[in-house]
Amino acid sequence: MKKITVAKGDGIGPEIMDATLKIILAAGAEIEIEEIQVGEKVYLSGNTSGIAPESWDVIRRNKVFLKAPITTPQGGGYKSLNVTTRKFLGLYSNVRPCLSLHPFIATKHPVMDIVIVRENEEDLYAGIEHQQTDEVVQCLKLISRPGCEKIVRYAFEYAKQYNRKKVTCFTKDNIMKQTDGLFHKVFDEIAKEYPEIENEHWIIDIGAAKMADTPEAFDVIVMPNLYGDVLSDVAAQITGSVGLAGSANIGDECAMFEAIHGSAPRRAGQNVANPSGLLQGAIMMLNHIGQSTVAEKVQNAWLKTLEDGIHTYDIFKEGTSKKQVSTTEFADAVIANLGQKPEILKAVSYANTAAINMPKYVRKAPKTKKLVGVDIFVQWNGLNPDELAEKVKRIAPSDMKLKMITNRGIKVWPEGFSETFCTDHWRCRFHPIEGEAIGKEEIIQLLNNAIREDIDTIKTENLYEFDGVAAYSLGQGQ
Ligand code: NAD
Repeated sequence: MKKITVAKGDGIGPEIMDATLKIILAAGAEIEIEEIQVGEKVYLSGNTSGIAPESWDVIRRNKVFLKAPITTPQGGGYKSLNVTTRKFLGLYSNVRPCLSLHPFIATKHPVMDIVIVRENEEDLYAGIEHQQTDEVVQCLKLISRPGCEKIVRYAFEYAKQYNRKKVTCFTKDNIMKQTDGLFHKVFDEIAKEYPEIENEHWIIDIGAAKMADTPEAFDVIVMPNLYGDVLSDVAAQITGSVGLAGSANIGDECAMFEAIHGSAPRRAGQNVANPSGLLQGAIMMLNHIGQSTVAEKVQNAWLKTLEDGIHTYDIFKEGTSKKQVSTTEFADAVIANLGQKPEILKAVSYANTAAINMPKYVRKAPKTKKLVGVDIFVQWNGLNPDELAEKVKRIAPSDMKLKMITNRGIKVWPEGFSETFCTDHWRCRFHPIEGEAIGKEEIIQLLNNAIREDIDTIKTENLYEFDGVAAYSLGQGQ
């Protein structure tokens, strides 16, 4: 008997959770349920995190969490509980299988069986944002080597366990050479450890277009957080309905399972919602906790029910569907089919689907890190970069020199184009003069000189070489 935490959530959440639990218990799931309250009621009681401290204790103790969708109230500083849960519990891997059920669910892509493995903790979702000038705000895109290694390895281990043939990586490393470049590099490194699995990399824009047009060309796709968030909804939707997909959020210690859709408040309390997305999450949970026989029984009964044309309103279609049913009727139909297999759709067989045993990340030996310059960002309301260059040249200590000014990344000095549109946010890059080495003291001196010259510095970024390799981007046009 495995104890799991359950949250029934908001909107259609309680109805689809009741249906899901009824099905898996009828199938013989050996689970003991500990229920917690999360979401709207908790938010509106004044708790901006949407969850009480004692509920965290329950989640951390049971380690397995089945969560129905919740409603995040608009505005008011309410934090997304999903993002918080993923990050607090270190749930670095978000796995979203997207499968077409043609001809029973209408889809433009009859052959589609993709699993999106989305990095779940970092990237632009680190949520570190600042307004720096009147005109410019920034969001930090953080990509770490441990983050990349863990998610890429998870994708290959998943492919191995589920007998998948290929892992594809999507990034935009032609533009973001450091961040997406690291993700791609780690992908290439780890792919070598799995010679039996085909691997490939696509630039995300054309990769996404290809996925939306020819999804049968893909198998497992691994990608950084933001791309994965967007593309997993696209992938689920083009199978026929976003309401059919579930997701597993996996960490070293804990795991959370859910539907990918939201709480659909307009459908709440009407007994019409489709419980399939949450049921798919629950099936992944059963596999995760080693109850794969039950998982297989539920999945095959679910496929048979859809094949029989027993459909909730969202997938009901005159011609292909036979009977439009309520949430509870759908659950009862799946229960009646337990023990049966689909005849036309491919039945599943879960032989080896327990939680993937991942190695702990081992920190690498540090590289030799050398400070080779600094970018000083300033707010300046002028328009002519030559004027700014004259001003900032004066703040360089004797052993440093202004090398470049960019505006939104594009080089505007020296030899900029008068056509380049400039905001009030400028980056001034300083390097040591030939043969000199610099330390942090020179940077402090630069900043002190800037105060003296009345230059409004808003941030600095140190420029480093790691083992002799420059580890920062050049200005566009440099
Ligand atoms: P939504 O996914 O709730 O609904 C989008 C559309 O899909 C609606 O027309 C809805 O009726 C339909 N739909 C969704 N699930 C369905 C189901 N199981 N059966 C039948 N129809 C279904 O997205 P939304 O309207 O943008 O968001 C509503 C609320 O859900 C918001 O408060 C949002 O913050 C929250 N949300 C929560 C989660 C989560 O808890 N994981 C995820 C996304 C959105």
